[in-house]
Amino acid sequence: MSNLRVGNCRLCGNRSKLQESHIVPKSIGKWLRETSATGYLRSVGSPNKRLQDLHKMPLFCSECEQSIGRDEKYFKERIFLPIHYEVRATFEYEESLLRFAVSLAFRTLCYYERIDPPKGTDAAELLGASYRWQRYLLGKESSPGFGSHHMFIVDPVEDHLNGLRRTMNSYLLRSVSIDILRYDGRVAVLTKLPWFIFMSEVTDVPLLGWKDTQLSQKGTIPRQQSLTDESFLDYMMDRAHQTETAIQAMSPKQQQVISSDALRAPERAYYSQSFDLHRFEKSLSSNFED
Ligand SMILES: [Zn+2]
Repeated sequence: MSNLRVGNCRLCGNRSKLQESHIVPKSIGKWLRETSATGYLRSVGSPNKRLQDLHKMPLFCSECEQSIGRDEKYFKERIFLPIHYEVRATFEYEESLLRFAVSLAFRTLCYYERIDPPKGTDAAELLGASYRWQRYLLGKESSPGFGSHHMFIVDPVEDHLNGLRRTMNSYLLRSVSIDILRYDGRVAVLTKLPWFIFMSEVTDVPLLGWKDTQLSQKGTIPRQQSLTDESFLDYMMDRAHQTETAIQAMSPKQQQVISSDALRAPERAYYSQSFDLHRFEKSLSSNFED
């Protein structure tokens, strides 16, 4: 651990040994590995490479890491896992969920700040948002300020989507991605986890077509929500297209590696969610004969 870099923590500002902080929660990466047919993660951008872990960079001190980790644990145990293993109409939540949503958006902004600092007209707005969210995460403010934080719980898509259904479901249920979205006069930060879409408003142009998704300090969120934001749905179709193209570009050798990984661990392949997706797809195909 002695090779940890010393620097100023991006959350509390204290000079300290910085941890290799995960932009997308480590425990979600672990879940993806445990439930995948091969036990490895692959990046959409370069599917020929196995990703042992999700994006990480030296950002926070160990105390801030622990504080963020407590909210992640809350999300995984109280929301993320129950979605998969329990049938429930609603989920009651406490402030940890809002803090988790804010920490996702904050980490995404920290990531872009490092790799591609915003320069355009919205640079000041992004800086303002990261400052508000930072103060809230540090407990210096009782709320994250203006701009709502949304959580949408995904359901497998049954519509054919012109042949993109399977890819769309892989994108929605089996991938992680982060982005800063600019559309219809607004800026919002997206963190997409398997089965979950988190969106945080940066500008004071509220999201439209997101029903029952807004998080408050505590409350109840229904399992069935509705998302009719056309521009956002177009964006997701686009991402699914990109995923499809990346998979098709995978070399035959790598495709071979994937199938032999699955052969070496046939039980894992059988019980994995990748396999379930395949079965789901097959059951729909036989129902609708497409
Ligand atoms: Zn810190």
